[in-house]
Amino acid sequence: MDAEVKFMGTLLLHELKIEERRRLNISNSCKGMIDHNARVLLIYTGGTIGMVENMDTGALEPFNFSHLRSNMPEIKRLNFQVETHLFDPPIDSSDMSLAVWQQIVRVIEENYGDYDGFVILHGTDTMSYTASALSFMFENLTKPVILTGSQLPIGKLRTDGKENLITALEIAADKDALGHPVVPELCIYMQNLLMRGNRTTKVNAYHFSAFSSPNYPWLAQAGLEIRYDRQLILMPDYHRPVCFHYAMDHHVLILKLFPGITEEVVRAQLEVPGLKGVVLEAYGTGNAPMYAWFSKQMQRAFERDIVIVNVTQCLYGAVEMHRYENGRQLENMGVTSGSDITTEAALAKLMFLFGKGESPAEVRRLMKVPLCGELTVRE
Ligand code: ASP
Repeated sequence: MDAEVKFMGTLLLHELKIEERRRLNISNSCKGMIDHNARVLLIYTGGTIGMVENMDTGALEPFNFSHLRSNMPEIKRLNFQVETHLFDPPIDSSDMSLAVWQQIVRVIEENYGDYDGFVILHGTDTMSYTASALSFMFENLTKPVILTGSQLPIGKLRTDGKENLITALEIAADKDALGHPVVPELCIYMQNLLMRGNRTTKVNAYHFSAFSSPNYPWLAQAGLEIRYDRQLILMPDYHRPVCFHYAMDHHVLILKLFPGITEEVVRAQLEVPGLKGVVLEAYGTGNAPMYAWFSKQMQRAFERDIVIVNVTQCLYGAVEMHRYENGRQLENMGVTSGSDITTEAALAKLMFLFGKGESPAEVRRLMKVPLCGELTVRE
């Protein structure tokens, strides 16, 4: 499939860009330059950042954008243009769906030519799923798309939302010395850190630092200034147009192993009608029980050509099925290694590849190939 060739091309181009930067003496750790003519589209989907307290129940509920805007007069002080697009009604990101992802892609496609960058305000609960999905749905992204949100609503005195939003907007407007966006990637910005979106996972329900990028370094850190690490940032092919993908196939699921799991539970999941792909959250470096019933259920799934991708339940590290007998048996059965991909990205990638109509054999092959920096290839 050409996505792989394109990604390799992107990598090559990335190398060339590094060469070009060396020649021009542009260092890899750099700060961006705000483009005062920049136009950034702020897309509000919902989430805590814009929520208010329901006086009767005390629970937070999505609220309209005028509330957010009146609490953020700082937006007017930015010396570039910010326009807004509102999702109506705004949602708690627990209500996120493939349809809303498609809506986001539509908004960005329709406005792509008119803006230098995009910031998406989104609830933190499913932000990593959305970031992963969008990273595949935008192919050869040439402009920044930055997701951000907050743990405390913008109207609260101690809100983390203001800094997150202002810095995300600046990142979306930042340019390098060649006039290109510094981060033409799908990212999450939260609590001073810019991370590749499809490498993130939500790790904290309380702290402002809600996200981690366990297996890929941060792309930038915001302190007194925003310092980017150029070497880590994907470079697109500026001669090729960005391609917007809409089709995502929902015939996938996550099967998490735990001691005591029964055949009934595994069978019920693997026999879901129409199932095409499974993210198997296994132990450690990708190990699973060696019970006869477990192998039998897996074999049955393979007979139905279901793609099973092995990801680790650990936050850090990767699947290496050859290390233990309990992993080797999975490999021998035909389970695909997800390397160090997150569960969120593995799920989104399966949805994307099946959505494109790839055959199970091709999906198995492509799951091991990084399409947009979502996994590390190991020898
Ligand atoms: N429940 C909220 C949401 O994801 C939490 C948040 O925004 O942080 O929409």
